[in-house]
Amino acid sequence: MLLNFVLPRPRCAHQTSPNWPTLRPDLMIDPADLRLEGALALLEHDRSACLPDAAKSATAFLQSVIDSLCEMSLTDALTGLANRRHFRTVLTREIDVVARSGDSALLLMLDIDHFKQINDAHGHPVGDQVIQAVARCLSHCVRPMDTVARYGGEEFAVILPCCQPLYGKIVAERIRQSVAALRIPASEALELSVTISIGGAFAPKWSRSSATQWIDLADAQLYCAKTEGRNQVKMDAEQEISVSAEEKSLLFGHLTQSDAAWLETHNNETPAKTSTAMQ
Ligand code: GH3
Ligand code: MG
Ligand code: MG
Repeated sequence: MLLNFVLPRPRCAHQTSPNWPTLRPDLMIDPADLRLEGALALLEHDRSACLPDAAKSATAFLQSVIDSLCEMSLTDALTGLANRRHFRTVLTREIDVVARSGDSALLLMLDIDHFKQINDAHGHPVGDQVIQAVARCLSHCVRPMDTVARYGGEEFAVILPCCQPLYGKIVAERIRQSVAALRIPASEALELSVTISIGGAFAPKWSRSSATQWIDLADAQLYCAKTEGRNQVKMDAEQEISVSAEEKSLLFGHLTQSDAAWLETHNNETPAKTSTAMQ
């Protein structure tokens, strides 16, 4: 049976993007012409992908295939955490939020200590179990609004939006201790424990940074944690506020001239005080 359907126009303004192809409303697609074998073979191994009956609705079926592939492209296969691609998207979005709102957002980079020894002593599959156990532990340590990602190998990243500088180290310490307290069953006779090193950095406020800059700041602290003995947290000192003229006008343009002059003086004289007040 051939099922024809019409590609929909974006339903409302926010669904359009400059990158969207222009869809002709009369454009008909025959699902029988699509080569779906590769996609379906991929989804066959993904337990979370449950596709509706294609014979009942071709649209629902194809939508489900697309959704499942999107989900898969953002997820790390071993741990089920966000993968590096997803992590980068969230981090870039968070930079925008911080630049607009001035909220504090924390990035933690975490790395399992001496993980190679676990692989060498117990084999790669046990190493995989350790990575999975640490991933589960990290997910349980954070809020639903936070993003935990597998950054690569035995390295993880956590993005914590709306995290006050006061709590940054406390959160990171709690995560470090939770992982250290884990007892990971590797076999009936074997329980393993691991430690992690953590480097943390807050997104620079009121000045737009790049995802790479933010990652570098946290990575530098992770490097310190490693070189200073591992199983510890190192945090970047909070960056000073630096506001460009353009950002000032965007931020304070609605104020009267005297308000703006007062802010200018206040900002130049006591940057530390302004920093606290703006948090
Ligand atoms: P450090 O404390 O300095 O981080 O030492 P380390 O041994 O943890 O770090 P190193 O970079 O020397 O080794 C990391 C190892 O992680 C090497 C690599 O084979 C292993 N690895 C990377 N990805 C995976 C994976 O998916 N599964 C397993 N089992 N091992 C992995
Ligand atoms: Mg390591
Ligand atoms: Mg590593």
